Amino acid sequence: MEGPTQNPRYIFVTGGVASSLGKGIISASLAKLLQARGYTVTIQKLDPYINIDPGTLNPYEHGECFVTEDGAETDLDLGHYERFLNVHTSQANNVTTGRIYQSVIEKERRGDYLGETVQVIPHITDEIKHRIQLLGENGAYDFVITEIGGTVGDIESLPYIEAIRQLKWEMGRRCLAIHLTLVPYLSAARELKTKPTQHSVKMMLEYGVQPDILVCRTEKHLNQTIRNKIALFCNIDATSVIESIDTSSIYKVPLLMQEERLDMVVLKKMKMPTTPMPDMGQWEEFIRKLESPAKTVNIGLVGKYVELVDSYKSIIESLIHAGTVNDCRVQLKLIHSEGIDQANVGEKLEGLSGLIVAPGFGDRGIEGKITSIRYVREHRIPFFGICLGMQCAIIEFARNVLDLPLAHSTEMDPNTPHPVIDIMQEQKQTQLKGGTMRLGAYPCTLDKGSMAYAIYQKEHIFERHRHRYEFNNKYLPLFEKHGMKASGTNPPSALVEIAELSSHPWFVGVQLHPEYKSTVLAPHPLFSDFVNAASKHTA
Ligand code: GLN
Repeated sequence: MEGPTQNPRYIFVTGGVASSLGKGIISASLAKLLQARGYTVTIQKLDPYINIDPGTLNPYEHGECFVTEDGAETDLDLGHYERFLNVHTSQANNVTTGRIYQSVIEKERRGDYLGETVQVIPHITDEIKHRIQLLGENGAYDFVITEIGGTVGDIESLPYIEAIRQLKWEMGRRCLAIHLTLVPYLSAARELKTKPTQHSVKMMLEYGVQPDILVCRTEKHLNQTIRNKIALFCNIDATSVIESIDTSSIYKVPLLMQEERLDMVVLKKMKMPTTPMPDMGQWEEFIRKLESPAKTVNIGLVGKYVELVDSYKSIIESLIHAGTVNDCRVQLKLIHSEGIDQANVGEKLEGLSGLIVAPGFGDRGIEGKITSIRYVREHRIPFFGICLGMQCAIIEFARNVLDLPLAHSTEMDPNTPHPVIDIMQEQKQTQLKGGTMRLGAYPCTLDKGSMAYAIYQKEHIFERHRHRYEFNNKYLPLFEKHGMKASGTNPPSALVEIAELSSHPWFVGVQLHPEYKSTVLAPHPLFSDFVNAASKHTA
């Protein structure tokens, strides 16, 4: 008998009416439910913009850049996929229009299309189809869920919808199209309105794609009459109209989708076995802890993109995961680094039991970060510095403890007499900005006597990276003499990955990015221990 993995199923998730309806969370939730039934699932995001990847995008544009184990700079939805599924994604899980065109143009130059006019159909659409099927071809997955970024009707997403049309035509019931829409509630009329959904489906039909399932984002429950109406106008059965109601946590969405029988409808439509039922026991346990914490802990996050929570998505989610481990709710205060100075730092950080200084690039707000680190170091408040946050902790220590007042990173001050943070040797020749940082997972060896070792409970770890600058090892003996220890280093390069202050209750800076690896079912130990320390801190 043909095994399911030899015959992968493809599920497409598109969105209409408005952006930010939660396609990524719906995709991840469906994947979770299928995974909880024993199926193997991967999720892919196709982004219709022309950048090769989001690595060169400002976080204001597109939120955080998520880094995968293999060093791909990707859309933040991949973070949700990993946090929900607890499995790694890779470069193949995020493809942009830029990357599609790049490979088609490379093939054209190589002569692969010799004699042909290279066109959107079939060349671009073939490349899109190839990228979708690539994930299914290695036999590892029963389901490949492909989320199409943007909104149906955008000029730039047309080739993707056309690729879906072709794949549906070629593969029949091995493909399924889920369309997300908005069902707005008009308070003046006291009514949910289905017309935007009807129009959105009409647009899909113009492009030749009949959605099989509609997931309707709404702030009020959809009654049977509304479901029947949507079903009638959109040529689908009422059981395939799925309600996606606003909820207090993204982590409740898989359970809401289970109640709405989204997974069941998918499996039935694809003629796949509908038993066993999903085992969501551990997930439900997580939600229970999330919903009824014993206490609240106040943690500050200092960064320069704090107006937009998406910029620090993985850190914020990691803190939520860590809260459940410690039976507490993390009350996060986002603090703009540019607004912090010597005079107001006490007021800005008042009432906090822990402080995170965020990753980042460039000069803006750097002194505010350094000032806040001095405050928490001196007031013995738990501190966690991530990437640039760790680099700022090094600069602060050099200036205020080692008495090197002009110490800096050469990223901010190329002429500093004390470059305690300096550009990595291999970065010196790098001219191109895209995809050229030290990216992805590298090994790190922990010092057995360190707090880091006690937290990880192992000597060898792998964590992800995204940086060009590093701790300048020339200064290491001086730092160590004054109590700032390098507790984690990269074995071949001796690059400092973790630095900690032994005389402080909890003061850890990491060059690596632990936030990319925290998941619902495996919260990251560094975040868990930090939240634990913060919960014990008494102001
Ligand atoms: N700008 C710093 C570097 O490139 C830190 C990067 C980061 O925080 N991700 O090294």
